[in-house]
Amino acid sequence: MKTVIHWFRRDLRVTDNTSLWQAYSASDRVIPVFCWDDAILSAPDVGPPRVNFLLRSLEALSRNLESLGHRLIIRHGRPEAILPALARESGAETVYANKDYEPYAIARDERVRGALAEQGTGFRSFKDAVVHEEREVLTRTGTVFSVFTPYSRAWKALPIATPVPRIGGPKSAVAALPSLPLPGSGDGLGHPLTQTLFEAGERAGLAALDRFLESRVFDYDHGRNVLLEPSGTSQLSPHLRFGTVGVRTVLSRWASARSQATAAAAQKSCDTWLSELIWREFYIQILANHPRVASRAFRPEYDQLQWEGTDAQFEAWCQGQTGYPIVDAAMRCLNATGWMHNRLRMIVAMFLTKDLMVSWQRGERYFMRALVDGDLAANNGGWQWSAGCGTDAAPYFRIFNPVTQGQKCDPDGSFVRRWIPELRDSPADCIHEPWTRPLLLSRCGYAPPVVQHDVQRGRCLAMFKAIKGSPPAPESTASLE
Ligand SMILES: Cc1cc2nc3c(=O)[nH]c(=O)nc-3n(C[C@H](O)[C@H](O)[C@H](O)COP(=O)(O)OP(=O)(O)OC[C@H]3O[C@@H](n4cnc5c(N)ncnc54)[C@H](O)[C@@H]3O)c2cc1C
Repeated sequence: MKTVIHWFRRDLRVTDNTSLWQAYSASDRVIPVFCWDDAILSAPDVGPPRVNFLLRSLEALSRNLESLGHRLIIRHGRPEAILPALARESGAETVYANKDYEPYAIARDERVRGALAEQGTGFRSFKDAVVHEEREVLTRTGTVFSVFTPYSRAWKALPIATPVPRIGGPKSAVAALPSLPLPGSGDGLGHPLTQTLFEAGERAGLAALDRFLESRVFDYDHGRNVLLEPSGTSQLSPHLRFGTVGVRTVLSRWASARSQATAAAAQKSCDTWLSELIWREFYIQILANHPRVASRAFRPEYDQLQWEGTDAQFEAWCQGQTGYPIVDAAMRCLNATGWMHNRLRMIVAMFLTKDLMVSWQRGERYFMRALVDGDLAANNGGWQWSAGCGTDAAPYFRIFNPVTQGQKCDPDGSFVRRWIPELRDSPADCIHEPWTRPLLLSRCGYAPPVVQHDVQRGRCLAMFKAIKGSPPAPESTASLE
Protein backbone atom coordinates (compact mmCIF):
# COMPACT_ATOMS: atom_id res chain seq x y z
CA MET A 1 0.00 0.00 0.00
CA LYS A 2 1.45 3.34 -1.04
CA THR A 3 1.21 6.03 1.62
CA VAL A 4 1.89 9.73 1.01
CA ILE A 5 1.87 12.59 3.53
CA HIS A 6 0.37 15.93 2.52
CA TRP A 7 1.84 18.72 4.65
CA PHE A 8 -0.59 21.68 4.96
CA ARG A 9 0.95 25.16 5.30
CA ARG A 10 -0.63 28.10 3.43
CA ASP A 11 -3.17 25.96 1.57
CA LEU A 12 -5.84 25.24 4.18
CA ARG A 13 -8.48 23.80 1.86
CA VAL A 14 -9.58 20.53 0.27
CA THR A 15 -10.66 21.98 -3.11
CA ASP A 16 -8.25 23.18 -5.79
CA ASN A 17 -5.23 22.15 -3.73
CA THR A 18 -2.47 20.93 -6.04
CA SER A 19 -0.29 19.00 -3.61
CA LEU A 20 -3.23 17.45 -1.76
CA TRP A 21 -4.76 16.35 -5.05
CA GLN A 22 -1.43 14.95 -6.29
CA ALA A 23 -0.90 13.09 -2.99
CA TYR A 24 -4.43 11.69 -3.16
CA SER A 25 -4.09 10.64 -6.80
CA ALA A 26 -0.65 9.06 -6.38
CA SER A 27 -1.34 6.96 -3.27
CA ASP A 28 -3.62 4.41 -1.67
CA ARG A 29 -3.58 6.36 1.56
CA VAL A 30 -2.97 10.06 2.10
CA ILE A 31 -2.06 11.41 5.54
CA PRO A 32 -2.90 15.10 5.94
CA VAL A 33 -0.77 16.83 8.57
CA PHE A 34 -0.32 20.31 10.02
CA CYS A 35 2.73 21.15 12.18
CA TRP A 36 2.52 23.86 14.84
CA ASP A 37 5.92 25.41 14.35
CA ASP A 38 7.14 27.30 17.44
CA ALA A 39 9.58 29.32 15.34
CA ILE A 40 6.59 30.86 13.56
CA LEU A 41 4.31 31.22 16.58
CA SER A 42 6.95 33.03 18.61
CA ALA A 43 8.22 35.27 15.77
CA PRO A 44 7.93 38.96 16.74
CA ASP A 45 5.91 39.83 13.65
CA VAL A 46 3.19 37.23 14.23
CA GLY A 47 0.14 38.55 16.07
CA PRO A 48 -3.28 37.53 17.39
CA PRO A 49 -5.42 38.27 14.29
CA ARG A 50 -3.39 35.93 12.09
CA VAL A 51 -2.92 33.20 14.72
CA ASN A 52 -6.64 33.12 15.46
CA PHE A 53 -7.60 33.20 11.78
CA LEU A 54 -5.23 30.26 11.29
CA LEU A 55 -6.79 28.34 14.20
CA ARG A 56 -10.35 28.82 12.94
CA SER A 57 -9.27 27.87 9.41
CA LEU A 58 -7.64 24.70 10.72
CA GLU A 59 -10.82 23.76 12.58
CA ALA A 60 -12.78 24.21 9.35
CA LEU A 61 -10.18 22.21 7.42
CA SER A 62 -10.33 19.39 9.94
CA ARG A 63 -14.15 19.27 9.64
CA ASN A 64 -13.97 19.33 5.83
CA LEU A 65 -11.45 16.49 5.79
CA GLU A 66 -13.60 14.51 8.25
CA SER A 67 -16.68 14.97 6.10
CA LEU A 68 -14.72 13.31 3.28
CA GLY A 69 -13.60 10.48 5.57
CA HIS A 70 -10.01 11.69 6.21
CA ARG A 71 -8.42 12.78 9.47
CA LEU A 72 -6.17 15.80 9.95
CA ILE A 73 -3.12 14.97 12.08
CA ILE A 74 -1.84 17.84 14.22
CA ARG A 75 1.72 17.74 15.54
CA HIS A 76 3.72 20.31 17.47
CA GLY A 77 7.42 21.04 16.95
CA ARG A 78 9.99 21.53 14.23
CA PRO A 79 8.83 20.19 10.86
CA GLU A 80 12.29 18.72 10.15
CA ALA A 81 11.78 16.47 13.20
CA ILE A 82 8.02 15.88 12.96
CA LEU A 83 7.78 14.89 9.31
CA PRO A 84 10.53 12.23 9.25
CA ALA A 85 9.02 10.74 12.44
CA LEU A 86 5.52 10.71 10.94
CA ALA A 87 6.85 9.12 7.76
CA ARG A 88 8.44 6.33 9.83
CA GLU A 89 5.29 5.79 11.92
CA SER A 90 3.00 5.64 8.88
CA GLY A 91 5.33 4.02 6.37
CA ALA A 92 4.92 6.99 4.01
CA GLU A 93 7.25 7.00 1.00
CA THR A 94 7.03 10.71 0.26
CA VAL A 95 5.97 14.01 1.78
CA TYR A 96 4.10 16.36 -0.58
CA ALA A 97 3.61 20.11 -0.03
CA ASN A 98 2.74 23.25 -1.94
CA LYS A 99 5.59 25.69 -2.51
CA ASP A 100 6.02 28.70 -0.26
CA TYR A 101 8.16 31.56 -1.59
CA GLU A 102 9.24 33.27 1.63
CA PRO A 103 12.92 33.03 2.64
CA TYR A 104 12.15 31.37 6.00
CA ALA A 105 9.93 28.77 4.33
CA ILE A 106 12.46 28.02 1.59
CA ALA A 107 15.21 27.39 4.16
CA ARG A 108 12.85 25.29 6.34
CA ASP A 109 11.78 23.18 3.36
CA GLU A 110 15.42 22.50 2.49
CA ARG A 111 16.02 21.29 6.06
CA VAL A 112 12.94 19.06 5.83
CA ARG A 113 14.03 17.71 2.45
CA GLY A 114 17.47 16.89 3.88
CA ALA A 115 16.11 15.22 7.03
CA LEU A 116 13.69 13.10 4.98
CA ALA A 117 16.39 12.14 2.46
CA GLU A 118 18.59 10.80 5.28
CA GLN A 119 16.00 8.10 5.97
CA GLY A 120 15.13 7.54 2.31
CA THR A 121 11.80 9.43 2.32
CA GLY A 122 11.09 11.68 -0.65
CA PHE A 123 9.91 15.30 -0.65
CA ARG A 124 7.96 16.85 -3.54
CA SER A 125 6.68 20.40 -3.78
CA PHE A 126 4.17 21.93 -6.20
CA LYS A 127 3.23 25.29 -7.63
CA ASP A 128 -0.10 26.23 -6.07
CA ALA A 129 -0.20 29.63 -4.35
CA VAL A 130 0.34 31.53 -7.59
CA VAL A 131 -0.71 31.20 -11.22
CA HIS A 132 2.75 32.12 -12.52
CA GLU A 133 5.93 31.57 -10.53
CA GLU A 134 8.99 33.77 -10.13
CA ARG A 135 10.82 32.47 -13.24
CA GLU A 136 7.74 32.12 -15.46
CA VAL A 137 6.92 35.75 -16.24
CA LEU A 138 10.06 37.07 -17.95
CA THR A 139 11.15 39.91 -20.21
CA ARG A 140 12.03 39.19 -23.86
CA THR A 141 15.66 38.80 -22.82
CA GLY A 142 14.77 36.28 -20.12
CA THR A 143 15.23 38.51 -17.08
CA VAL A 144 12.75 39.13 -14.28
CA PHE A 145 10.60 42.27 -14.13
CA SER A 146 10.92 44.96 -11.50
CA VAL A 147 8.24 47.25 -12.93
CA PHE A 148 4.59 46.30 -12.56
CA THR A 149 2.97 47.41 -15.86
CA PRO A 150 5.13 45.35 -18.26
CA TYR A 151 5.06 42.45 -15.76
CA SER A 152 1.27 42.58 -15.77
CA ARG A 153 1.17 42.60 -19.59
CA ALA A 154 3.46 39.57 -19.78
CA TRP A 155 1.51 37.80 -16.98
CA LYS A 156 -1.76 38.20 -18.91
CA ALA A 157 -0.21 36.78 -22.09
CA LEU A 158 0.45 33.42 -20.38
CA PRO A 159 -2.17 30.65 -20.09
CA ILE A 160 -4.01 30.34 -16.77
CA ALA A 161 -4.35 26.85 -15.26
CA THR A 162 -7.80 25.59 -14.34
CA PRO A 163 -8.70 24.58 -10.75
CA VAL A 164 -7.60 21.19 -9.45
CA PRO A 165 -10.46 18.82 -8.39
CA ARG A 166 -11.50 18.33 -4.78
CA ILE A 167 -10.14 15.13 -3.25
CA GLY A 168 -12.47 12.17 -2.75
CA GLY A 169 -12.86 9.83 0.22
CA PRO A 170 -10.06 7.55 1.51
CA LYS A 171 -9.05 4.67 -0.74
CA SER A 172 -8.03 2.53 2.23
CA ALA A 173 -8.25 2.61 6.03
CA VAL A 174 -7.43 5.95 7.68
CA ALA A 175 -4.26 5.64 9.75
CA ALA A 176 -4.80 5.57 13.54
CA LEU A 177 -1.96 7.97 14.23
CA PRO A 178 -1.72 10.11 17.36
CA SER A 179 -2.77 13.72 16.87
CA LEU A 180 -2.90 16.72 19.21
CA PRO A 181 -6.13 18.61 19.78
CA LEU A 182 -6.35 22.06 18.22
CA PRO A 183 -6.11 24.86 20.80
CA GLY A 184 -9.58 26.40 21.31
CA SER A 185 -8.17 29.91 20.98
CA GLY A 186 -4.90 31.80 20.61
CA ASP A 187 -4.83 32.63 24.37
CA GLY A 188 -2.63 29.70 25.41
CA LEU A 189 -0.34 30.36 22.45
CA GLY A 190 0.41 33.90 23.63
CA HIS A 191 -1.96 35.44 21.08
CA PRO A 192 -5.19 36.42 22.87
CA LEU A 193 -7.65 37.96 20.45
CA THR A 194 -9.26 41.28 21.27
CA GLN A 195 -10.74 41.94 17.84
CA THR A 196 -13.79 40.48 16.13
CA LEU A 197 -12.33 37.91 13.83
CA PHE A 198 -12.89 37.69 10.09
CA GLU A 199 -14.87 34.62 9.15
CA ALA A 200 -12.24 31.96 8.51
CA GLY A 201 -12.05 28.67 6.63
CA GLU A 202 -12.67 27.42 3.10
CA ARG A 203 -16.45 27.80 3.07
CA ALA A 204 -16.19 31.42 4.28
CA GLY A 205 -13.51 32.15 1.68
CA LEU A 206 -15.57 30.78 -1.20
CA ALA A 207 -18.67 32.60 0.06
CA ALA A 208 -16.73 35.89 0.21
CA LEU A 209 -15.51 35.30 -3.34
CA ASP A 210 -18.99 34.54 -4.68
CA ARG A 211 -20.58 37.49 -2.87
CA PHE A 212 -18.01 39.82 -4.39
CA LEU A 213 -18.30 38.39 -7.91
CA GLU A 214 -22.09 38.50 -7.83
CA SER A 215 -22.21 42.28 -8.02
CA ARG A 216 -19.45 44.34 -6.36
CA VAL A 217 -16.77 43.38 -8.90
CA PHE A 218 -18.79 45.18 -11.60
CA ASP A 219 -18.55 48.43 -9.66
CA TYR A 220 -15.04 47.88 -8.26
CA ASP A 221 -13.55 51.03 -9.84
CA HIS A 222 -15.91 53.06 -7.67
CA GLY A 223 -16.41 50.70 -4.70
CA ARG A 224 -12.69 50.26 -4.04
CA ASN A 225 -12.63 53.87 -2.80
CA VAL A 226 -15.34 53.34 -0.18
CA LEU A 227 -13.77 53.26 3.28
CA LEU A 228 -16.72 52.25 5.43
CA GLU A 229 -18.60 48.96 5.43
CA PRO A 230 -20.07 47.46 3.34
CA SER A 231 -16.72 47.16 1.65
CA GLY A 232 -16.49 47.64 -2.12
CA THR A 233 -13.45 45.34 -2.22
CA SER A 234 -13.46 41.56 -1.90
CA GLN A 235 -11.80 41.24 1.55
CA LEU A 236 -10.29 38.04 0.22
CA SER A 237 -6.74 38.84 1.34
CA PRO A 238 -6.75 36.70 4.54
CA HIS A 239 -8.15 33.82 2.49
CA LEU A 240 -5.49 34.19 -0.19
CA ARG A 241 -2.87 34.55 2.56
CA PHE A 242 -3.83 31.26 4.26
CA GLY A 243 -4.95 29.48 1.12
CA THR A 244 -8.53 29.00 2.28
CA VAL A 245 -9.38 29.81 -1.34
CA GLY A 246 -7.26 28.70 -4.28
CA VAL A 247 -6.05 31.30 -6.74
CA ARG A 248 -7.11 29.21 -9.78
CA THR A 249 -10.64 29.02 -8.38
CA VAL A 250 -10.62 32.79 -7.90
CA LEU A 251 -9.52 33.35 -11.48
CA SER A 252 -11.87 30.86 -13.05
CA ARG A 253 -14.89 32.35 -11.21
CA TRP A 254 -13.63 35.85 -12.05
CA ALA A 255 -13.47 34.87 -15.76
CA SER A 256 -17.06 33.71 -15.76
CA ALA A 257 -18.20 36.92 -14.01
CA ARG A 258 -16.17 38.96 -16.53
CA SER A 259 -17.88 37.18 -19.42
CA GLN A 260 -21.27 38.31 -18.06
CA ALA A 261 -20.26 41.97 -17.89
CA THR A 262 -21.80 43.79 -20.85
CA ALA A 263 -21.30 47.47 -19.97
CA ALA A 264 -17.84 48.86 -20.68
CA ALA A 265 -17.57 50.28 -17.14
CA ALA A 266 -18.35 46.87 -15.61
CA GLN A 267 -15.75 45.18 -17.83
CA LYS A 268 -13.19 47.80 -16.84
CA SER A 269 -13.96 47.25 -13.16
CA CYS A 270 -13.47 43.49 -13.59
CA ASP A 271 -10.11 44.17 -15.27
CA THR A 272 -9.01 46.50 -12.50
CA TRP A 273 -9.68 43.77 -9.95
CA LEU A 274 -7.64 41.30 -12.00
CA SER A 275 -4.75 43.80 -11.80
CA GLU A 276 -4.90 43.62 -8.00
CA LEU A 277 -4.48 39.86 -8.14
CA ILE A 278 -1.52 40.39 -10.45
CA TRP A 279 0.00 42.87 -7.97
CA ARG A 280 -0.11 40.03 -5.45
CA GLU A 281 1.92 37.77 -7.77
CA PHE A 282 4.22 40.64 -8.72
CA TYR A 283 5.32 41.07 -5.10
CA ILE A 284 5.60 37.32 -4.55
CA GLN A 285 8.01 37.08 -7.50
CA ILE A 286 9.95 40.11 -6.25
CA LEU A 287 10.46 38.44 -2.87
CA ALA A 288 11.35 35.10 -4.45
CA ASN A 289 13.84 36.63 -6.91
CA HIS A 290 15.28 39.19 -4.48
CA PRO A 291 14.96 37.69 -0.98
CA ARG A 292 17.15 40.47 0.46
CA VAL A 293 14.11 42.84 0.27
CA ALA A 294 12.78 41.09 3.37
CA SER A 295 15.17 43.17 5.44
CA ARG A 296 16.66 45.78 3.10
CA ALA A 297 15.57 48.36 0.54
CA PHE A 298 15.11 47.09 -3.01
CA ARG A 299 17.21 50.08 -4.08
CA PRO A 300 20.34 49.54 -1.97
CA GLU A 301 21.26 53.24 -1.87
CA TYR A 302 18.23 53.85 0.36
CA ASP A 303 19.59 51.57 3.07
CA GLN A 304 21.73 54.58 4.04
CA LEU A 305 18.75 56.82 4.90
CA GLN A 306 19.07 58.40 8.32
CA TRP A 307 15.59 58.03 9.79
CA GLU A 308 15.32 60.59 12.56
CA GLY A 309 11.81 59.82 13.90
CA THR A 310 11.59 59.11 17.62
CA ASP A 311 10.14 56.18 19.56
CA ALA A 312 7.47 58.52 20.95
CA GLN A 313 6.40 59.49 17.41
CA PHE A 314 6.29 55.85 16.36
CA GLU A 315 4.16 55.04 19.42
CA ALA A 316 1.78 57.92 18.62
CA TRP A 317 1.37 56.47 15.10
CA CYS A 318 0.74 52.94 16.44
CA GLN A 319 -1.91 54.17 18.88
CA GLY A 320 -3.68 56.53 16.45
CA GLN A 321 -2.62 59.64 18.38
CA THR A 322 -0.74 61.70 15.78
CA GLY A 323 -3.33 64.47 15.59
CA TYR A 324 -3.93 63.78 11.86
CA PRO A 325 -7.48 62.40 11.80
CA ILE A 326 -7.32 60.18 8.70
CA VAL A 327 -4.07 58.58 9.92
CA ASP A 328 -5.38 58.06 13.45
CA ALA A 329 -8.76 56.72 12.33
CA ALA A 330 -7.01 54.21 10.05
CA MET A 331 -4.64 53.04 12.81
CA ARG A 332 -7.44 52.72 15.36
CA CYS A 333 -9.45 50.73 12.81
CA LEU A 334 -6.46 48.44 12.29
CA ASN A 335 -5.93 47.93 16.02
CA ALA A 336 -9.61 47.20 16.61
CA THR A 337 -10.31 44.95 13.61
CA GLY A 338 -7.03 43.59 12.21
CA TRP A 339 -7.99 45.20 8.91
CA MET A 340 -7.22 48.39 6.98
CA HIS A 341 -8.39 49.59 3.57
CA ASN A 342 -5.69 49.69 0.85
CA ARG A 343 -5.75 53.50 0.37
CA LEU A 344 -5.43 53.98 4.12
CA ARG A 345 -2.48 51.57 4.21
CA MET A 346 -0.74 53.86 1.71
CA ILE A 347 -1.63 57.01 3.64
CA VAL A 348 -0.43 55.75 7.04
CA ALA A 349 2.71 54.18 5.55
CA MET A 350 3.65 57.45 3.82
CA PHE A 351 2.88 59.40 6.99
CA LEU A 352 5.11 57.19 9.14
CA THR A 353 8.04 57.27 6.73
CA LYS A 354 7.77 60.75 5.24
CA ASP A 355 6.13 62.88 7.94
CA LEU A 356 7.46 61.13 11.05
CA MET A 357 10.60 59.93 9.28
CA VAL A 358 10.48 56.55 11.02
CA SER A 359 11.99 53.67 9.03
CA TRP A 360 9.62 51.65 6.87
CA GLN A 361 10.84 48.44 8.53
CA ARG A 362 9.26 49.46 11.87
CA GLY A 363 5.91 50.11 10.22
CA GLU A 364 6.16 46.92 8.22
CA ARG A 365 6.70 44.85 11.38
CA TYR A 366 3.82 46.58 13.17
CA PHE A 367 1.48 45.84 10.24
CA MET A 368 2.52 42.18 10.14
CA ARG A 369 1.55 41.77 13.80
CA ALA A 370 -1.67 43.74 13.53
CA LEU A 371 -3.11 42.62 10.17
CA VAL A 372 -5.23 39.52 9.72
CA ASP A 373 -3.87 39.28 6.14
CA GLY A 374 -0.25 40.06 7.09
CA ASP A 375 1.83 38.66 4.25
CA LEU A 376 5.55 39.25 3.86
CA ALA A 377 5.56 39.76 0.07
CA ALA A 378 2.54 42.11 -0.20
CA ASN A 379 3.31 43.98 3.00
CA ASN A 380 6.98 44.49 2.19
CA GLY A 381 6.07 45.58 -1.35
CA GLY A 382 3.45 48.02 -0.06
CA TRP A 383 5.82 49.52 2.52
CA GLN A 384 8.75 49.88 0.16
CA TRP A 385 6.44 51.43 -2.48
CA SER A 386 5.11 53.93 0.05
CA ALA A 387 8.54 54.79 1.43
CA GLY A 388 9.88 55.31 -2.10
CA CYS A 389 12.69 52.77 -1.89
CA GLY A 390 11.16 49.72 -3.56
CA THR A 391 10.54 48.36 -7.03
CA ASP A 392 8.29 50.41 -9.23
CA ALA A 393 8.06 52.75 -6.26
CA ALA A 394 6.25 56.02 -5.89
CA PRO A 395 9.21 58.39 -6.24
CA TYR A 396 10.47 59.61 -2.86
CA PHE A 397 9.26 63.11 -3.64
CA ARG A 398 5.65 61.90 -3.83
CA ILE A 399 4.54 62.77 -0.32
CA PHE A 400 0.86 62.43 0.49
CA ASN A 401 -0.62 65.38 2.33
CA PRO A 402 -2.67 63.73 5.11
CA VAL A 403 -5.22 66.56 5.11
CA THR A 404 -6.00 66.57 1.39
CA GLN A 405 -5.87 62.75 1.32
CA GLY A 406 -8.46 62.68 4.12
CA GLN A 407 -10.63 65.20 2.30
CA LYS A 408 -10.45 63.14 -0.90
CA CYS A 409 -11.17 59.68 0.51
CA ASP A 410 -13.44 60.64 3.42
CA PRO A 411 -15.12 63.88 2.20
CA ASP A 412 -17.87 64.01 4.82
CA GLY A 413 -15.64 62.69 7.62
CA SER A 414 -17.82 59.68 8.40
CA PHE A 415 -14.86 57.27 8.56
CA VAL A 416 -13.02 59.61 10.95
CA ARG A 417 -16.13 60.00 13.13
CA ARG A 418 -16.54 56.21 13.23
CA TRP A 419 -13.07 55.68 14.71
CA ILE A 420 -12.28 58.90 16.57
CA PRO A 421 -15.02 59.52 19.11
CA GLU A 422 -13.35 62.80 20.15
CA LEU A 423 -14.23 64.19 16.70
CA ARG A 424 -17.75 62.79 16.53
CA ASP A 425 -19.32 66.26 16.69
CA SER A 426 -16.75 67.99 14.50
CA PRO A 427 -18.18 69.77 11.43
CA ALA A 428 -17.19 68.27 8.07
CA ASP A 429 -15.38 71.39 6.87
CA CYS A 430 -12.63 71.05 9.49
CA ILE A 431 -12.71 67.38 10.45
CA HIS A 432 -9.45 66.64 8.63
CA GLU A 433 -7.65 69.64 10.17
CA PRO A 434 -9.24 70.15 13.59
CA TRP A 435 -6.33 72.33 14.74
CA THR A 436 -7.75 75.13 12.59
CA ARG A 437 -10.47 75.45 15.29
CA PRO A 438 -8.38 75.66 18.47
CA LEU A 439 -11.42 75.98 20.73
CA LEU A 440 -13.01 72.83 19.32
CA LEU A 441 -9.71 70.96 19.58
CA SER A 442 -9.16 71.89 23.21
CA ARG A 443 -12.74 70.96 24.15
CA CYS A 444 -12.89 67.57 22.43
CA GLY A 445 -9.64 66.24 23.87
CA TYR A 446 -8.21 65.08 20.51
CA ALA A 447 -4.41 65.20 20.16
CA PRO A 448 -2.79 68.26 18.53
CA PRO A 449 -0.63 67.39 15.46
CA VAL A 450 2.57 65.63 16.49
CA VAL A 451 4.49 67.28 13.60
CA GLN A 452 3.82 69.98 10.98
CA HIS A 453 3.33 68.35 7.59
CA ASP A 454 4.91 71.20 5.55
CA VAL A 455 8.00 71.31 7.75
CA GLN A 456 8.43 67.53 7.71
CA ARG A 457 7.98 67.39 3.95
CA GLY A 458 11.00 69.64 3.49
CA ARG A 459 13.10 67.63 5.95
CA CYS A 460 12.13 64.38 4.27
CA LEU A 461 13.03 65.65 0.79
CA ALA A 462 16.41 66.74 2.17
CA MET A 463 16.97 63.31 3.74
CA PHE A 464 16.37 61.58 0.41
CA LYS A 465 18.33 64.14 -1.64
CA ALA A 466 21.35 63.56 0.55
CA ILE A 467 21.61 60.01 -0.77
CA LYS A 468 24.01 59.58 -3.66
CA GLY A 469 22.11 58.27 -6.66
CA SER A 470 18.75 59.81 -5.70
CA PRO A 471 17.13 61.47 -8.71
CA PRO A 472 16.50 65.21 -8.24
CA ALA A 473 13.01 66.19 -7.07
CA PRO A 474 11.04 68.40 -9.48
CA GLU A 475 10.79 72.10 -8.50
CA SER A 476 7.15 71.79 -7.51
CA THR A 477 5.92 68.56 -6.00
CA ALA A 478 2.50 69.85 -4.97
CA SER A 479 0.72 68.02 -7.83
CA LEU A 480 2.21 64.73 -6.60
CA GLU A 481 0.47 64.95 -3.24
C1 LIG B 1 1.66 49.50 3.22
C2 LIG B 1 0.86 48.36 2.66
C3 LIG B 1 0.86 47.13 3.28
C4 LIG B 1 0.12 46.06 2.78
N1 LIG B 1 0.14 44.85 3.42
C5 LIG B 1 -0.52 43.79 2.90
C6 LIG B 1 -0.48 42.53 3.53
O1 LIG B 1 0.19 42.32 4.56
N2 LIG B 1 -1.19 41.50 2.98
C7 LIG B 1 -1.94 41.67 1.84
O2 LIG B 1 -2.57 40.71 1.38
N3 LIG B 1 -1.98 42.85 1.21
C8 LIG B 1 -1.30 43.92 1.70
N4 LIG B 1 -1.36 45.13 1.07
C9 LIG B 1 -2.09 45.23 -0.20
C10 LIG B 1 -3.58 45.62 -0.10
O3 LIG B 1 -3.75 46.71 0.76
C11 LIG B 1 -4.47 44.47 0.39
O4 LIG B 1 -4.19 43.30 -0.34
C12 LIG B 1 -5.94 44.79 0.19
O5 LIG B 1 -6.28 45.95 0.90
C13 LIG B 1 -6.78 43.61 0.64
O6 LIG B 1 -8.13 43.91 0.53
P1 LIG B 1 -9.08 43.06 -0.41
O7 LIG B 1 -8.85 41.62 -0.20
O8 LIG B 1 -10.47 43.56 -0.19
O9 LIG B 1 -8.52 43.48 -1.81
P2 LIG B 1 -9.14 43.59 -3.28
O10 LIG B 1 -9.09 45.01 -3.66
O11 LIG B 1 -10.44 42.89 -3.39
O12 LIG B 1 -8.02 42.83 -4.15
C14 LIG B 1 -8.05 41.40 -4.38
C15 LIG B 1 -6.78 40.76 -3.92
O13 LIG B 1 -5.67 41.25 -4.65
C16 LIG B 1 -4.51 41.29 -3.82
N5 LIG B 1 -4.04 42.67 -3.74
C17 LIG B 1 -4.78 43.80 -3.83
N6 LIG B 1 -3.99 44.89 -3.77
C18 LIG B 1 -2.73 44.45 -3.63
C19 LIG B 1 -1.46 45.09 -3.51
N7 LIG B 1 -1.33 46.42 -3.56
N8 LIG B 1 -0.37 44.32 -3.36
C20 LIG B 1 -0.46 42.97 -3.34
N9 LIG B 1 -1.63 42.31 -3.45
C21 LIG B 1 -2.75 43.03 -3.60
C22 LIG B 1 -4.93 40.80 -2.44
O14 LIG B 1 -4.61 39.43 -2.35
C23 LIG B 1 -6.44 41.02 -2.46
O15 LIG B 1 -7.15 40.17 -1.60
C24 LIG B 1 -0.63 46.23 1.58
C25 LIG B 1 -0.63 47.48 0.95
C26 LIG B 1 0.10 48.54 1.47
C27 LIG B 1 0.08 49.87 0.78
